[in-house]
Amino acid sequence: MEEIKIHDKTFIPFITYEEIDKAVQRIANTLYEEYKEEVPVFVGVLNGVIMFYCDLLKHYNGECEVAFLQLASYHGGLKNCEKIDLVRDVNKDLTNRHVIILEDIVDTGNTIEFLHKLLENKPVKSIKIVSLFFKPEMFKKDLNVDLTGINLPNKFVVGYGLDYAGLGRNLKDLYMLKEN
Ligand code: 5GP
Repeated sequence: MEEIKIHDKTFIPFITYEEIDKAVQRIANTLYEEYKEEVPVFVGVLNGVIMFYCDLLKHYNGECEVAFLQLASYHGGLKNCEKIDLVRDVNKDLTNRHVIILEDIVDTGNTIEFLHKLLENKPVKSIKIVSLFFKPEMFKKDLNVDLTGINLPNKFVVGYGLDYAGLGRNLKDLYMLKEN
């Protein structure tokens, strides 16, 4: 793995796909143990979740259904955005269902707080929040992320679904912003 350039920034190799995939497998196995007698709905938070979502489904051995919602939070740069917009609500009736929200990364927790508010009015059977990446130093909310894969330092990352100004989502591995 080599340094890469996206727009005006340089990113250095950080976590390989193989390492990420082990974390995804662990998450899939943990969820299977809990939900094997049920048919949960995996609700992916677009766009960043795309890679995690597909890989998790491939590793999940039980029955499940799929659904998506779309939020806009980062608006293309390196800085987090306090304001979150619902671009597209969940494309499935979740009444009386076990719902597993799949997020790519939890940073300050603003997004999962927004998701909790969005879902608390829906008559679901249960909700679990799962995030592949988690930045514990940044997380400020009095809320639970029920299951996480890999803890990250407070650095900006791209790849494996995560972008910098629209680019980089298709990188297989995870890269970290190179500080000057
Ligand atoms: P939070 O609302 O928890 O602060 O941030 C969650 C959202 O911010 C994620 O869904 C993701 O879109 C974005 N985000 C947070 N940290 C990073 C990062 O290091 N890189 C990228 N590309 N996006 C991030």
